Amino acid sequence: MLFSLGIVALLRTTKYLLPEFSHGVGKEFPYRPPLQSSRNLPIPPAIVPNRNRFLSSIAAAVFLLWLSDLQSPAGPEHVILISCDGLRPDAVELLGAKGAPHFYRLITEGSYTHNARTDADYTITLPNHTCMITGRGVKGGPGHGWVSNSTPKIGELLHRNKKAYLQSAFDVVHDHGLRTALFASKKKFVLYDLSYNERNGQADTEGADNGRDKINIYQLDELTDPLIIKFVMAMSREPFGFSMLHLRDCDSAGHGSGWDIANGTPYINAVVKVDRLIGHLLTLIEASPRLKDKTAMIVTADHGGRLSTKTHTKADEAKNYTIPFYVWGAGVHAGGDLYALNPGTRADPGEANPPHNAKSLPPVRNGDAGNLATFLLGLPPIKGSTINGKQNLKVAMPPPAK
Ligand SMILES: [Zn+2]
Repeated sequence: MLFSLGIVALLRTTKYLLPEFSHGVGKEFPYRPPLQSSRNLPIPPAIVPNRNRFLSSIAAAVFLLWLSDLQSPAGPEHVILISCDGLRPDAVELLGAKGAPHFYRLITEGSYTHNARTDADYTITLPNHTCMITGRGVKGGPGHGWVSNSTPKIGELLHRNKKAYLQSAFDVVHDHGLRTALFASKKKFVLYDLSYNERNGQADTEGADNGRDKINIYQLDELTDPLIIKFVMAMSREPFGFSMLHLRDCDSAGHGSGWDIANGTPYINAVVKVDRLIGHLLTLIEASPRLKDKTAMIVTADHGGRLSTKTHTKADEAKNYTIPFYVWGAGVHAGGDLYALNPGTRADPGEANPPHNAKSLPPVRNGDAGNLATFLLGLPPIKGSTINGKQNLKVAMPPPAK
């Protein structure tokens, strides 16, 4: 959307710039738009086809595209939100760029932090994934209220539990006419398919009626290798505007033999595997003209975990609530640390996990992901959301000044 606005602005401005440029390319740089409304601008002389003028218009177009990139980088048409269940950021650091080349590619080419936070009160799977898609914390008035971590029983829904409709990123994207998908590797994710199906999803009041079923494709496969193949095939056939992909491997290894951050442990091997799966996605994006330079990825986790307990349930343990957050792709420049990029709206929490109502600036949370996805797609925030509800988590950095 921002990009199309840029193009419109480009066309409108170029119209008036061209005659001037015919007197000498670059003479008018740096261009400053006149301080008057376009309505009052003098009507330009007719554009006579001539080589100099053609070259001038190309130069003008390139310059203005560069200028619009400074102000509003071209956003992606597709956003993939990947949740690496149970991924600890220090595991990625232990592996380094050699052992986890694809995570490190997200780090070097995008914006990231290894000190993001789960929800303030829960470090278990379903409550945290519900934070990601609704942009809410778990507890309190604005919280989504879903505290269970089991496969929902018949009749259990997010909205019934909250006693109010909980809008999600799936709603926002789908109601604006884009395709959505959830590819999950745990059965309990059926909670989202049930809550947002054609019976339980809210009516679409946004423009054309795209129906109540907010998730076009729901796919479950507990094995992540076939799951990723199915995702890649579906994405190649007809790309989703917004998709969520859940990869369970790190969590499964952690419950089996502990979150053991040492070379060669089952947990570290699972992190290597997830890195490889993300590599498949990067390959897909770059090999497809429909996706290349049009796709962004947000990668985070629902919680970390501990070696001693082989669980992640204690919400006041730093190893449980410290998670990574990576943003990469179209519209995202190599910006480095997310806290440095957002000094006015986010603060590095150090070792703490502040409550949602803390007076201090909030940390980057997995709950930021839903509204970051809608923002990158040029869409409004999720209704009722409180985490990144102003869509102010910034990831794009202008190119450095020369
Ligand atoms: Zn778990």
